[in-house]
Amino acid sequence: MTFPIDAFPKEDGDFGGSAPEIDRSSDRFFMREAIRQAFVAFEAGEVPVGAVVVHQDRIIGRAYNQTELLKDPTAHAEMIAITQAASSVGDWRLTGCTLYVTKEPCAMCAGAIVLARLDRVVFGAYDLKRGGAVSAFQILGDERLNHRPTVVGGVEEEAARTLLVEFFKQRRAGSVLDDGHHPSDGGHN
Ligand SMILES: [Zn+2]
Repeated sequence: MTFPIDAFPKEDGDFGGSAPEIDRSSDRFFMREAIRQAFVAFEAGEVPVGAVVVHQDRIIGRAYNQTELLKDPTAHAEMIAITQAASSVGDWRLTGCTLYVTKEPCAMCAGAIVLARLDRVVFGAYDLKRGGAVSAFQILGDERLNHRPTVVGGVEEEAARTLLVEFFKQRRAGSVLDDGHHPSDGGHN
């Protein structure tokens, strides 16, 4: 499939004379970086979710879902990006950081977000069935936990969702050829 965002910014200065300047502090800018990661996951046959962690307008963690490659159920984009970010700042506390992720975090990732004390979480597509942030579970707003980040959902939602919908459509089509039946979509992040 083609990349789901039209006129995607390529490199610095690659906009011609009349193009507007990119706001590098904007949520949409960093969400697009996360969507780039999700697209890499898509091409690799992984559930297409991407994430970046940003500190003072700088990306310090950048990852895509790698559960198939690593054969690791915890290898969600958010978990890998959080680990990278903690390594980058030399502290497990990611105070002052924002996580951008293309899909609403699952319960595991929402737990990790609380533990990492991230200031903000910005996600693209809502996950009404399994989302752990605000949909199926409200872990990021639970007053029993000692940290509650600011949460913004629905940023660049259409592009993020398009990747997921297309991925599962292709997987179902492929599995019909393989074994003659449709698996459920259960178990993905
Ligand atoms: Zn997750």
